[in-house]
Amino acid sequence: EGFIANVSAATALNAFLVETPDHALAAADAADAARAAGETLKPLAGVPIGMKDLFCTNGVPTTAASRILEGFTPPYESTVSANLWKAGAGMLGKLNLDQFAMGSSNETSAFGNVISPWRRNTGDTAPLAPGGSSGGSSSAIAARLCPAATGTDTGGSIRQPAAFTGISGIKPTYGRCSRWGTIAFASSLDQAGPMARDVRDCAIMLEAMAGFDAKDATSLDLPVPAWEAGLSGDLKGKRVGIPKEYRVDAMPPEIEALWQQGIEWLKDAGAEIVEVSLPHTKYALPAYYIIAPAEASSNLARYDGVRYGLRDLPEGAGLQDMYAATRAAGFGDEVKRRIMIGTYVLSAGFYDAYFTQASKVRTLIARDFEQAWAKCDVLLTPTAPSAAFALGEKSSDPIAMYLNDVFTVPSSLAGLPAMSVPGGLDGQGLPLGLQIIGKALDEQSVLNAGLAIE
Ligand code: GLN
Repeated sequence: EGFIANVSAATALNAFLVETPDHALAAADAADAARAAGETLKPLAGVPIGMKDLFCTNGVPTTAASRILEGFTPPYESTVSANLWKAGAGMLGKLNLDQFAMGSSNETSAFGNVISPWRRNTGDTAPLAPGGSSGGSSSAIAARLCPAATGTDTGGSIRQPAAFTGISGIKPTYGRCSRWGTIAFASSLDQAGPMARDVRDCAIMLEAMAGFDAKDATSLDLPVPAWEAGLSGDLKGKRVGIPKEYRVDAMPPEIEALWQQGIEWLKDAGAEIVEVSLPHTKYALPAYYIIAPAEASSNLARYDGVRYGLRDLPEGAGLQDMYAATRAAGFGDEVKRRIMIGTYVLSAGFYDAYFTQASKVRTLIARDFEQAWAKCDVLLTPTAPSAAFALGEKSSDPIAMYLNDVFTVPSSLAGLPAMSVPGGLDGQGLPLGLQIIGKALDEQSVLNAGLAIE
């Protein structure tokens, strides 16, 4: 009940799009009843969580923060949310995000930006971006409105908002969490994952969310490891790689210092530090910003004014006019930009020059990681090249915004597990995140390195 009251009181952050107190209370009541009956409690018994509004929730409006889905109430539950309810959790509400998860600041939401609860300690009171696209999730957890939330990560959307708000979040190996019932952005990259206050809570959440699902053709048919039971901050015998190509030009000294501090912490935990090379790193961002929009343009073709949400039917209009009017009114600018880029790079004359080329680059990036694993067990890098920026600071410059994803997209292209954990504060008192990238299926080593840092 305390959480429910806080959510309603914290409207200024704009983190919640819909509140669902009854759902959370029902889970709490079920947990109380189980406790009273002396039953073994489920792993998330009664825990009130926030759901990024990209997960379809049965009977609860789901918008992907886009006008085009206004009025859409799914008659089904996403596998990830269903798994969480099975584990005993309840839903406090649906969390704001960048429209269709496209963005790094939560400013592309059709329902207004989310505000980070953090402020600079310099007297500058400018509201800060909570990161994106899972900015409702990061803001809500950082403000203690919920103990944990779901996120999705296509090119960094769990890790970068976690870094901006001083919380933890893990994107598991591609295929660990079912994509069924999660609104698609770029299907070969999209992965759900948890965001929470610490590594242990992330491990508990991920165990509940993950698992094989026959309804998602890319779901991994593997048992879910007992990540929480396997947690250990002792890294003796582990080798941590430092990829030299991540020392990008103009990296702020504070980010350099954070990285060095992270290295020291992992050494203290017993790890051996080795330098590694990921030579194709600088091509990851351009490849991502071809592949992700290409897939998005295909996935978003389904919003036609017939099947979901909004329909704009001008007087005397035909079918084509309805498509055009609905899509013009329903999609935001960033979504339209991605659809235009995506259809362009997939068009007959340009497909080989852009999409095929980007797909080849993607393979080279995955091979870089494969070669690095000969030398190390996990990689340590900063999560983002800066602390949280002010709202509005980058919103008129898409390229500046895309550059914020420089450290998160390579592991997304390679489908690898990657986590952000808080690494301390910068000179203005803002949180900075450290990223740990692991081998495919080795979330345990990622979580353990995260535990050693936090
Ligand atoms: N910021 C990246 C983008 O805009 C990543 C988004 C995401 O991971 N959903 O595409």
